[in-house]
Amino acid sequence: MKIKVLKFGGTSVGSVEAIKRSANIICDWSKKSKVIVVLSAMSGETDRLINLTKSFSKSPNPVDFDNAISTGENLSCALMSIYLNNQKTKSKFLHSWQIPIMTSSEHMKSRILSINKNFLLNELENLDVLIVPGFQGINERREITTLGRGGSDTSAVAVAAAMDAECIIYTDVEGVFTTDPNIVPNAKKINKISYEEMLELASQGAKVLQTRSVELAMRKNTKLSVRSSLKPKKIGTIITDEESVLEKNTVSGIAYTKDEAKITLSRVLDKPGVSSKIFGPLSKGNINVDMILQNISQDGKFANLSFTLPRADLEKALKIIKKEKSKIGYKKIISSNNISKISVVGVGMRSHAGVAQTLFDTLGKNKINIQVITTSEIKISILIDEEHTDLAVKKLHQAFKLHK
Ligand code: ASP
Ligand code: MG
Repeated sequence: MKIKVLKFGGTSVGSVEAIKRSANIICDWSKKSKVIVVLSAMSGETDRLINLTKSFSKSPNPVDFDNAISTGENLSCALMSIYLNNQKTKSKFLHSWQIPIMTSSEHMKSRILSINKNFLLNELENLDVLIVPGFQGINERREITTLGRGGSDTSAVAVAAAMDAECIIYTDVEGVFTTDPNIVPNAKKINKISYEEMLELASQGAKVLQTRSVELAMRKNTKLSVRSSLKPKKIGTIITDEESVLEKNTVSGIAYTKDEAKITLSRVLDKPGVSSKIFGPLSKGNINVDMILQNISQDGKFANLSFTLPRADLEKALKIIKKEKSKIGYKKIISSNNISKISVVGVGMRSHAGVAQTLFDTLGKNKINIQVITTSEIKISILIDEEHTDLAVKKLHQAFKLHK
């Protein structure tokens, strides 16, 4: 049985017209193969549901909360199925508990553990299209769980991986771009990109795909692409293994995030075990520390230590560090939240020197100060003042000739 998995994001099911438009794409595919459709909630709906819960409780219990916020996807699925059946495309909406899509036990950030492939295959025998809600599953207690914001991408890739099928993500942009076209109007659509590069770009702020979906596709070697539901005939961006990307760019794309914060501890004792006293409690508090920078002071006894974290976690982190002050032993704590991170990504960095130099040069010429630098094999990330974000992205895009 030939199967395609098609995922439609919030804007592609955001209105009556959008649902009908996406339904036409589904009908077309269904003439060539069986189709499993994974849908997001209508755009804005999940935010609305989250806010709605706040009218009743500041901290609803996670079971109630997931029950509430998972309903948006179910509505889009039901509406899509009504329309497809009306168009004589035989379709059925299956809730995640019917399949089931099993997840880990925790709520709001569950991971998909398994999907009943045979059940889906059986159902597909007599249908053209199966419709599955994204963003959710059930845990071993048979409670509805959700996968974290943007989780429908991960649902779609997980279904595709389970069915050994290709996954096409339909969204409101034509594909993955060399950088955010809102900042750089002549940013170019990337035709093919490796899983690894996509993973770096997604985790560094490119918002087209949820990071976990790319991770999963890479692990399962799932054929994955991004297309626009407004221009469905255009091949968007294909995300594939590195060997299949013939044109290996030194730099493929530039991503940025503005939701960063930095904490600096001054005069931390420079001795073994100190870092674990700082980062241990933070990790227990579920705070994801990203970049870490330590410089040893002249006398060799004390160091200054800076690290970055999501801005949303700043208050919580400060509280934890202040509570641990006597155990860690530092003089002052300074924090800032008007910073952003810019990342330059490309597999060609493995074999080409000079990327860092071009980057430093470009920022230097534009009087943009770099606060922290980190590198990996295929990525260089820098931390700068938030107000320079757009300028830095523009100038780097130019310097690496990504518009060409
Ligand atoms: N509706 C969910 C969200 O807005 C999941 C998704 O659309 O991917 O985060
Ligand atoms: Mg999304």
